[in-house]
Amino acid sequence: MGTSFTQSIRERIVSIQSIRNLAIVAHVDHGKTTLVDRLLHHCNTISPDRLSERFMDSGDLERERGITITSKHVSLDYQGNKVNLIDTPGHADFGGEVERVLCLADGVLLLVDASEGPMPQTRFVLKKAMDQKLKPLVVINKIDRPYHRALEVQSEILDLFIDLDAPESFLDFPIIYASGRDGIVQREPDSENEGMDLLFEFILKNLDPPELIFDRPGAIRITATEVDGFMGRIGIGRVHLGKVSKGDKVWVLDQGSSERTQQVIKGLFCYQGLDRVPIESAPSGELVAVTGIAHVQIGQTLTLCDPPKCLDPVPIDEPTLSMDFLVNDSPFAGQEGTYVTSSKLGERLQKELEGNVSLRIESTASPDRFSVAGRGLLHLSILIEKMRREGYELGVSRPKVLIKIIDGREHEPFLHTFVEVNDEYSSKVIDTLLQVGGQLRGMNTRNTSCFLEFSCPARSMIGMRSKLLTLCRGEITLSTLFEDYFETKTNPRVRENGALVSMLAGSCAAYSLDSIQNRGILFAVPGDSVYEGMVIGENSRSGDLAVNPVKGKKHSNVRAAGTDKNAQLAPPRILSMEDALEFLAEDEILEVTPKAFRIRKTILNAEERKKRGKTGRPEKL
Ligand code: GDP
Repeated sequence: MGTSFTQSIRERIVSIQSIRNLAIVAHVDHGKTTLVDRLLHHCNTISPDRLSERFMDSGDLERERGITITSKHVSLDYQGNKVNLIDTPGHADFGGEVERVLCLADGVLLLVDASEGPMPQTRFVLKKAMDQKLKPLVVINKIDRPYHRALEVQSEILDLFIDLDAPESFLDFPIIYASGRDGIVQREPDSENEGMDLLFEFILKNLDPPELIFDRPGAIRITATEVDGFMGRIGIGRVHLGKVSKGDKVWVLDQGSSERTQQVIKGLFCYQGLDRVPIESAPSGELVAVTGIAHVQIGQTLTLCDPPKCLDPVPIDEPTLSMDFLVNDSPFAGQEGTYVTSSKLGERLQKELEGNVSLRIESTASPDRFSVAGRGLLHLSILIEKMRREGYELGVSRPKVLIKIIDGREHEPFLHTFVEVNDEYSSKVIDTLLQVGGQLRGMNTRNTSCFLEFSCPARSMIGMRSKLLTLCRGEITLSTLFEDYFETKTNPRVRENGALVSMLAGSCAAYSLDSIQNRGILFAVPGDSVYEGMVIGENSRSGDLAVNPVKGKKHSNVRAAGTDKNAQLAPPRILSMEDALEFLAEDEILEVTPKAFRIRKTILNAEERKKRGKTGRPEKL
């Protein structure tokens, strides 16, 4: 970035009188990135060397899974006004993050696709925004599409707000119609295009600037941290009271402890476009980054008030699910990863705690095992995926739902469950979910699709996705959101089918897999390396079945050479990380390495397993 560019930005910031802090809520693919890109270019708040970059350029994992995991923000300078757009994570498992970023905002911009309408995944974030009384502004996007249903979508949004118990004043939400891709913004679905200026006017008119509180000593609440190679640890947050300046000596107060130190703010920055730019001071309402605070942590208050007083705590959701992370002790341990020891695993998990606020880590009786609790399966599987990409090897136990005792009674987390399924399968889905303790909350049909809403015990939902996919031949979308803790009424679901367990080590042979495949569904393909005790498929019956996938055609003197290639194998079931975690039985572990993940029995030797009285009678095939 050139010096003159930085300077001109700084001058502009000094003249900025009016700030708007707005969190964006949008379902994946509804056009958030495209729209914000257009806004950035429209007001030229982007430095010349970043023009080709896309707003919220997400990490690999985020792109693959279509969710925002860590939120970022971007700042737009429009005619002397400053609009801070705060990205929100799109999934309930990142609830901790959602609540923190919403603390930065005064309103929410809900972006909804004019054809698809509001989607269940955005409901969670919107609910949190309504709870924090953030004013909603609605943009119906992609109105360039020929068969959009903007007006219908508008009434679906109203229904959603009513359903979320939004304050009455919010039901008359301001709304605008746009096509981020084509740069169209209209007051009505069929009125004339007034361009991007109208969207800025819409925001400035409908959202009040933050209250300027100058008569109190300055205070910032830290809601995110980052590490920068040059600047070290950076704390990011909103100035909630007074004014904060570079060089200020502030009290640093931890959330939930009496720890306090006095430290100097060495660097103070605000946002401009996608960049952080140095400033001398910032008023209440501004979003800033600070450097110079050693061990800056999420939830901390930095205050000039003496004696110091903590700002309201940052709300953080409790974990609902736990798993054990273990040192990998499979026969392949150390072959595919760089970091395999217990100390490396422990260090990595500790590091994760710094920014991942809903995560809890406890040591166990064994130094090789850590209990890791998080918001849900996705929250923890993302951590596992990140670790394996960084070169770690580990074992992971079956996910366990965390139970709470309230008034002497056992309570368990329930999930708000949304299903979209072809009409012909709807009764099967209803039967299945009712059987596991789910309650049907709503039902709707559009064309041949049926939309169902349930409240289901989280325990019953572990492994449910693959069961429903099989039941409905893949024609189903399922999403779940944490609802609340309710009293436990049903017994937990256990996996009905056993596993096909390899009894030998070696390389899988097509001929052998061919004869095993009629006993269940295979996960392995010819050529896969296996070891004794590794799970290579799902048994079509209950109980485990010991199988030999490695014996080759040479054992047969009847078949001619080449038979191996001719074996007619059904396509294997390819498990995603979440599928594999959901599949795990009590006596199984998921082995995760940078190259693969494999399901295995905790005790690898069949005889040993039998002696310990676990599931499955080894049976020869
Ligand atoms: P995000 O996941 O919400 O950030 O969505 P993107 O901005 O990446 O857009 C998702 C897809 O929708 C891309 O293929 C875009 O080209 C397309 N898209 C975005 N905005 C519009 C729009 O206004 N109209 C139409 N027809 N397509 C759009």
